[in-house]
Amino acid sequence: MTAESLTTPGQGAEYADTASEAYRAALRVIESVEPRIAEATRKELDDQRHSLKLIASENYASPAALLTMGTWFSDKYAEGTIGHRFYAACQNVDTVEALAAEHARELFGAPYAYAQPHSGIDANLVAYWAILATRVETPGLAEFGAKHINDLSEADWEALRAKLGNQRLMGMSLDTGGHLTHGFRPNISGKMFHQRQYGTNPQTGFIDYDAVAAAVREFKPLILVAGYSAYPRRVNFAKMREIADEVGATFMVDMAHFAGLVAGKVFTGDEDPVPHAHVVTTTTHKSLRGPRGGLVLATEEYAPAVDKGCPMVLGGPLSHVMAAKAVALAEARRPEFRTYAQAVADNAQSLADGFVKRDAALVTGGTDNHLVLLDVTSFGLTGRQAESALLDSGIVTNRNAIPADPNGAWYTSGIRFGTPALTTRGFGADDFDRVAELVVEVLKNTQPAAGPNGPSKAKYTLADGTADRVRSAAAELLEANPLYPGLTL
Ligand SMILES: *Cc1c(COP(=O)(O)O)cnc(C)c1O
Repeated sequence: MTAESLTTPGQGAEYADTASEAYRAALRVIESVEPRIAEATRKELDDQRHSLKLIASENYASPAALLTMGTWFSDKYAEGTIGHRFYAACQNVDTVEALAAEHARELFGAPYAYAQPHSGIDANLVAYWAILATRVETPGLAEFGAKHINDLSEADWEALRAKLGNQRLMGMSLDTGGHLTHGFRPNISGKMFHQRQYGTNPQTGFIDYDAVAAAVREFKPLILVAGYSAYPRRVNFAKMREIADEVGATFMVDMAHFAGLVAGKVFTGDEDPVPHAHVVTTTTHKSLRGPRGGLVLATEEYAPAVDKGCPMVLGGPLSHVMAAKAVALAEARRPEFRTYAQAVADNAQSLADGFVKRDAALVTGGTDNHLVLLDVTSFGLTGRQAESALLDSGIVTNRNAIPADPNGAWYTSGIRFGTPALTTRGFGADDFDRVAELVVEVLKNTQPAAGPNGPSKAKYTLADGTADRVRSAAAELLEANPLYPGLTL
């Protein structure tokens, strides 16, 4: 398996040459107007090529998906749905959106797909409001004997609005890996819903389904959300659906992080959310390796409300991005993508084993998805110090809270690692073992600096020579696994 087969599935040197020509021409065009943007664009590729990117939410989309975004589809307004637009002359946008939806339905085996959300947060808002429309607004209208919300008296409308704003949602807690959009106060979802959270077993770090079931029985949410950004284990979605069914909750899964593992059939059966959830949301730019954007999948029951994402939550769709979603989803339907997704999971396993055998503590003791959460308290560091010392050494990660984090959400005690990006470059299991070795070398050589009241949570010292030594070892790995091989600007 070569890096080339992972980045540009099924295509070789000729594809890289063609992409090079396209980018060189595009950069000349940009340069003629604002040379500093052309310069920054060149530099961004150079920086990405030379950094060991372990950020679990990032990846490298194919040149085909990236190039698709740079067209005149950006200029077109197309509010509405396929075939029913509030603007004229949307026939080509209809083609694009229908193809993106078709690829999404086929890839995930979903009855319905909505390709308009601009991002993961938008996809979640569309999903929440579609569920509220289906479960609260439509029955509310029937109660008032009205066909359309515009037919309600002001008093009845206010009563319905109050009802819409007084619903319950339950999601995974932030410190055990949940996401802000799952009902947390700083996000709009936390202002929309009365929220309670479920966590993980404090001893094992795994989801305890009996505890989730007990919490759901007590709180009786309208919506039960599963999905995470920093939980290093698989979720049994069949079990979660049973729990939701017990109280008549709508079961929603946010697979923003792990959609690539679902698409690549690493998560199947009870671990595939699509057959079990009423509504599934995702980003398209994380493990799915497409353009920045979102998708919503739904059962027939929720499809009509999801289809009203515009005007409910969205304005005009980003048609150029929907086109790129169609291209990336077409790539994800190829057999090479399954090889890629399996390599993402195998590599995470190798990275976790590499940490464990070097006595570094992991949340849950390991992984069975695409991410690893390292507890850096075992090195006497905060997440902030570890993140900075790794960055000094050319290793790009992000700090992340661990369950019941003693250092809070800002300094944190964890570092999150993900394998999707480097796997796209062609990194294999041995390379990830070497990555673990380099990370441990940096952290062992990092000491917290003294602060006014004991050790600082932010400042640190890195032993002389460590950063240079690790940087050159990382450079060797990067050179052996080039990003966009054959692409020259
Ligand atoms: C990344 C992420 C999102 C948000 O995606 P954006 O495209 O950044 O808005 C939502 N939910 C989960 C679980 C995520 O990991």
